[in-house]
Amino acid sequence: MIKRISLEYLVTVAINMVVFFLVAQLLDGQTVSASTGIQLLELNILISMIEVGAFNLAFRHRQQPVTAMTHKVEGMLKDEEPAHILLRKDNDYYELAMAINHLQTHQQKVLRAKTQQGEELRLLLSYLPIGVMVIDRYRKVEMANSAMAEFLQTEIRERRHPYTQDIHQFELVSLISQVFSNKQSQRKVITLPGMPTEKRVEASVIYTSTSEDFFQILVLLYDVTEIYAVEKMQMDFLSNASHELKTPVTAISGFAETLQAGAKDDPETLNQFLGIIQKESKRLTELIQDVLSISRIESQSISQQKLSDVDISELVDEQLSTLQQMASVKHIVLVNQIPAGEVQRTDERKLVEIIKNLVSNAIKYNREDGSVTIDYEATEREWTLKVTDTGIGIAQNEQSRIFERFYRVDSSRTKQVVNGTGLGLAIVLELVQSLQGQISVKSQRGVGSTFSVTFPIKQQQ
Ligand code: ADP
Repeated sequence: MIKRISLEYLVTVAINMVVFFLVAQLLDGQTVSASTGIQLLELNILISMIEVGAFNLAFRHRQQPVTAMTHKVEGMLKDEEPAHILLRKDNDYYELAMAINHLQTHQQKVLRAKTQQGEELRLLLSYLPIGVMVIDRYRKVEMANSAMAEFLQTEIRERRHPYTQDIHQFELVSLISQVFSNKQSQRKVITLPGMPTEKRVEASVIYTSTSEDFFQILVLLYDVTEIYAVEKMQMDFLSNASHELKTPVTAISGFAETLQAGAKDDPETLNQFLGIIQKESKRLTELIQDVLSISRIESQSISQQKLSDVDISELVDEQLSTLQQMASVKHIVLVNQIPAGEVQRTDERKLVEIIKNLVSNAIKYNREDGSVTIDYEATEREWTLKVTDTGIGIAQNEQSRIFERFYRVDSSRTKQVVNGTGLGLAIVLELVQSLQGQISVKSQRGVGSTFSVTFPIKQQQ
């Protein structure tokens, strides 16, 4: 500024000097004397100072809005919110100042929308059950959500850092490396170590590019453990069911063939083989009925329940009388201890099925002259049925497995050969769960077992 003023000043003095000399010569028609020259020079300096001062004042006044607008634009570039510039309408810069004010308003709107979108995205990502991680072209983590941190069982820092600090699983690291080198998206099901059990996840590593050298890698992890478990269960069920169905069918056709081949001529063999065929046919029928029951329960939704008020004691009495014949073979006493008039709102058909299965097991796995007792308890929120027997009992390590489909406790360990499909308790479990209930077992080998089913109390609607 000082430099500029000095230069202006010198130029003004020089011009003034020339003008003064020319004017003086024109007026005198003579050459200017030395003393007149000095006086002229002094006068010239004074006038020049006044001129430069006045010029600068005028210049600064004109420059003020420009300086203000420059500061404002600089502030806007730094995402600050400088105040609007207010100029009189007759100011030369009025239109420009208004345009900058509008631009600032627009910029603020865009910024606010961007911040809001960012917040929404962050919120969405934090609730998303899918693990998300964005890796930049320098192999650094730009962003990752909480699900990703949970999958990797690590805390992911906010600051950019190499992705290998978070991802250690070999298959996932090599999948990402492949995408970096081939620039092509990949997908693979991998196993992640997990607490308490490992997880199967579908990993998608997606290559996204906006230009030749600018690209990002998006890593998505989706938990498929349950889907795989269900698939495996269905496969196991199918193979177990076909295996179990094959056994009686093979026996029936084998004995029938032997009879046809001539064994039928011996009345004793004929009788014995027909007995086996009948027994195996019965087993086959039971198995098919159980398999059908399981698939029927699975396909039914909770809304398909038929709720009605059921007198629990009456219902148990009815079931005990149908199983009385089976119990008397082993001289087993069936005792209904449920007080009369206890009414609960439930699905009667399902409850019948549950009681039938539990009581018939309690008879089947009981000793000679044993007993089966049915008890009932109710609180304000739930009611419980207990089926207690005096039978062979179930070892501790078998107790959680008996609800699995086709699981039967090894008969060599129970020292008792009892017919069954291994589906009864699996059916009971499905039925109890479909009524939002719970089932538990307490048992001791050689003493007996108690199966308890508990249901929430349903009010009449
Ligand atoms: P099953 O058709 O073999 O009876 P379940 O699913 O009803 O099939 O029962 C599974 C296994 O649990 C049985 O094979 C038996 O070993 C055991 N079990 C079930 N109920 C009892 C019980 N009341 N006492 C002893 N063992 C039982």
